[in-house]
Amino acid sequence: MATVSFWGGVGVIGSSKILVEQEGWRVLLDFGLDFSPGRGLFRGPVAPRPGHVLRDRLRTGGAPWLPHLYRPDALEGLDLAGGSDGRTALFITHAHIDHIGLTGWVDPRIPIYCSPDTQRIMDALEQSGQGVEGGTPRFHTLADGETLTFGPFQITRYPVDHDVIGASGYAVQTDDGILAFTGDIRLHGRHPDLSLAFARAVHGARALVIEGTTLSQGFQQPTVTEVEVDRRFQSALAATPGLVLMSVYPRNIERVQSFIAIAHAQGRRILWPAPIGQFLRLMGLERIELFSEDLLGDIHARPREYVLQLALTDLPLLLDLPVGPGAVFLHANGEPLGSFDPAWEILQDWLRWTHTPFWPIGTGGHASPDDLNRLVELVAPEILFPLHSLEPDRLIPPPGTLRWLPERGGRRYPLSGRH
Ligand SMILES: [Zn+2]
Repeated sequence: MATVSFWGGVGVIGSSKILVEQEGWRVLLDFGLDFSPGRGLFRGPVAPRPGHVLRDRLRTGGAPWLPHLYRPDALEGLDLAGGSDGRTALFITHAHIDHIGLTGWVDPRIPIYCSPDTQRIMDALEQSGQGVEGGTPRFHTLADGETLTFGPFQITRYPVDHDVIGASGYAVQTDDGILAFTGDIRLHGRHPDLSLAFARAVHGARALVIEGTTLSQGFQQPTVTEVEVDRRFQSALAATPGLVLMSVYPRNIERVQSFIAIAHAQGRRILWPAPIGQFLRLMGLERIELFSEDLLGDIHARPREYVLQLALTDLPLLLDLPVGPGAVFLHANGEPLGSFDPAWEILQDWLRWTHTPFWPIGTGGHASPDDLNRLVELVAPEILFPLHSLEPDRLIPPPGTLRWLPERGGRRYPLSGRH
């Protein structure tokens, strides 16, 4: 009998960890770090203690208390079995910290699978000094549509669309049918066809675990497409007489590539902070220029020829830049990621102090409530588990669908339906 349990992503956006078990074999889908700035025991100046990071996370519920998953040395004598049992494998949906951030603690004998693009991003982050905490995990790749047999399971990886390249959904074939997991998914990006093809491929699944990020956002915002984001960026560059500052999320490689082309066409050079620039170069992007203070003179002489990606830690640089009403700060889903982050207000304070206008031009990586319903209808699962949402109960499946609002931790939901 196969069961599923949920060790993260319950009542929160992010930190997904879904455990499928059968006959002592385990498939763990995603292994994310809790990412909620401004909330939790570790926030502001309080971080896990260096040298005791995993221990601190385990003891505060930030990492799941599961045996035979972690490196024994990182457990520091906690009463939890470390090392591999030879019957556990991890499958990662995409290279966002709330889905992949705990993989540095995994015992290296436990295989971790992901898409080739996810592996590329993680390698480039590691090489530019931005790797995951705990260690350097080794990722194995599965091609689009590839199926792997692991113990009693067959696991298939499908590409889906999200705001990072290489995003995946999975289908886990168990003795009690297929459990499908969307990872983070959307229909308003550049590749809605991928998300729709995944939904059709797992049609009739025994169970669907679906993200529900936008259910928490009040149904108000119409969904902006990536094409519209490009158009907003283009018109903002054209309309701004002076310097353009921006914050785009570097792992959204397709948007970065598009912004570089748009800026180039308008005679502007984009300057990046060193770690981001190094990461983008390692990802093979061209025309990546790093900011240096040597360029300040030229930026003052020709502000309309520059776009500067501004890191939060570099906000005092605003004092030496030609900012003010003729400049603009374009927020395209970079850091701070949203108003839930205390750094959001800090950024607003600096922009107010320097009289610099702030324009949000981005769009999210998560399907709108309407699109979530469309995906559920396409999959038509027998059991639905809405996850990765503050209000998962707002996802109402068609009549006849068994919907469970997952509880976090040890409760195992049988896929056979004998509850
Ligand atoms: Zn994501």
